[in-house]
Amino acid sequence: MTILALEIGPAGFAVTRVADDVDPDEVRRIPIPSGGAWAACRDLLLECAEGTEVTAVGIGSMGPVDMAAGVVAPTQIPEWRAGFALVDAVQKIFPIALVQLALDGVCLALAERNFGATSAVSDSLSVVVSDRIAAGVMVGGFVVVGRTGNAGHFGHVLVPGFDDLCECGGRGCLEAVASGASILRWANSQGWVGNSVEALVGAAQAGDEIAVSALNRAGTALGRAIASVASLLDIDLVAVGGTVAKSGPALWKPLAASVATHARLGFLTALRVVPSELDLLGVLAGAGLLAMMAQEAAAQVAD
Ligand SMILES: [Zn+2]
Repeated sequence: MTILALEIGPAGFAVTRVADDVDPDEVRRIPIPSGGAWAACRDLLLECAEGTEVTAVGIGSMGPVDMAAGVVAPTQIPEWRAGFALVDAVQKIFPIALVQLALDGVCLALAERNFGATSAVSDSLSVVVSDRIAAGVMVGGFVVVGRTGNAGHFGHVLVPGFDDLCECGGRGCLEAVASGASILRWANSQGWVGNSVEALVGAAQAGDEIAVSALNRAGTALGRAIASVASLLDIDLVAVGGTVAKSGPALWKPLAASVATHARLGFLTALRVVPSELDLLGVLAGAGLLAMMAQEAAAQVAD
């Protein structure tokens, strides 16, 4: 009996076997190929299953998703952009498996609540800021999934004071300002030379003005978006993870200042923004939880 977790993320596909938790040493990853995305994903799943009987698969995918139809349509995978029936495809290779699909942010929120930084509260926002921004919301102890499965697209919350063009076609979305790719794009447009967030953080620590400004913009935008969402949903804890969240004070100071400036109502004074405790495993851990919950529910029905 094997349970698998699959992440469809901007950095590629990741698969692992799930026991009680996710062991980072057991995670197999490949970048998204320029063609044959499903073939590569299928091979990774089969390799991880090692010929055993797979009884459940949890999938956390970049959005948009259509949960009811089991379809994903991530903009980062051109051949899937019009919609790929991922659940059906997985079901074909593992015929008896329970296959569960959710937005990456939904998986992240589940994992932070069960294993991570938001376990002590019922109302929280869990965010990952890497090349892309993903997020999930817990309200009253329940994860918010939304009508089509796409609740938590925090990256497309509008941020006042910014009008950067977003991949979605809009302007001023959080993702257009604060994702790793957007931070680098802005820094490069101002004359900074480099191609990784880590290098940018190093430059900021060394006092490079453009690098400092790039992280300041991102932190400020994140703080504004967090304050808005916290006000809308009455949440008191936000966990932020991902590669950009590792930028240190150059990001976190303007973020905290921005939250303090905008989250002024009495019910928001308890709002805390903390680093994620799941490092880069949140989505995969949440996908594993989805699969385990499906398996437990099926066992109870059988009893
Ligand atoms: Zn957008």
